Amino acid sequence: MKAAVIHEHGSPSVLRYEDVPDPTAGPGEVLVRVRACALNHLDLWTRRGLPGRSVPFPHILGNDISGEIAALGGPADGLAVGQRVLLSPGTSCGRCQACLSGEDSSCRQYRIFGAHLPGGYAELVRSPVTNVVPIPDHVGFEEAAAFPLVFLTAWHMLVSRAHVRLGEDVLVWAAGSGVGMAAVQIAKLFGARVIATAGREEKLAQAKALGADEVLDHHRQDVAAEVRRLTGRKGVEVVIEHVGQASWERSILSLAQRGRLVTCGATTGPDGRTDLRHVFAKQLTLMGSYMGSKAELLEAAPHFFAGRLRPLVHEAFPLADARRAHEVMEASEHFGKLVLRP
Ligand SMILES: [Zn+2]
Repeated sequence: MKAAVIHEHGSPSVLRYEDVPDPTAGPGEVLVRVRACALNHLDLWTRRGLPGRSVPFPHILGNDISGEIAALGGPADGLAVGQRVLLSPGTSCGRCQACLSGEDSSCRQYRIFGAHLPGGYAELVRSPVTNVVPIPDHVGFEEAAAFPLVFLTAWHMLVSRAHVRLGEDVLVWAAGSGVGMAAVQIAKLFGARVIATAGREEKLAQAKALGADEVLDHHRQDVAAEVRRLTGRKGVEVVIEHVGQASWERSILSLAQRGRLVTCGATTGPDGRTDLRHVFAKQLTLMGSYMGSKAELLEAAPHFFAGRLRPLVHEAFPLADARRAHEVMEASEHFGKLVLRP
């Protein structure tokens, strides 16, 4: 099969479109013919290489996969060859206390397609049966691939970690990013008022179109001061953080009394300054969040299939142009997801 493969860590130029052996599905697995694979920031981290963590080369990136079942590795009730599906991005042991209590992203054997396992930058991928989510005929492959990782992440942050409630104010950083785009919509679905930030004029308009009630330019405006103004000096009950160093201090300053901050990433760097006086005096809660469970994906997916959650696809590229797609993602001028099509 054809795949976009990396043989070393580095710049987008390490992505090579080449022939690799077809994978095969074993017992408890299916083989999926990939029709679309969405890019995530995790792809950039995996391609560049993280200190102390590597992948065996050659490696195939790609966490977010949709396609058709090409083969079954054994009996699989309710699944058939040709069926249209998306894949839950994380795999786990399925037997430990974390897995069985619906916290599979805390499983010690948690693995993500494209980060720890061969991913979707390929014509075929093998997957455990338990990761397969059938999709209705009216849902396109590109949207289906753009959905899982970022909507799962944002659902876990807002619903399971922050317990967002009707009428609360929620600050979402970088509404044009995948997690930001998902968080704006999920917060609205639960009846919150959303203040979203973006870095350019046209992205502010797109954030509004997505459902944000208020939008702020995080390069040109004092976000914490504007949040206080927009909330009658109260601050927001929930902050959705994934930017890290560049926004962290302003996130803390934007929180209301007893506010909750949830973070799932640090795209601008890991060193955020926290003034502890704000943490105790305002009784703040700071929470980490990592992916989400298969059960949460199944909880969120019907909202996607019914059109209440919409993964925005900015642009689709042929798989052979994976390098160019990475360059576009690094330039950060897109709004929504970038998708590869084998
Ligand atoms: Zn487990």
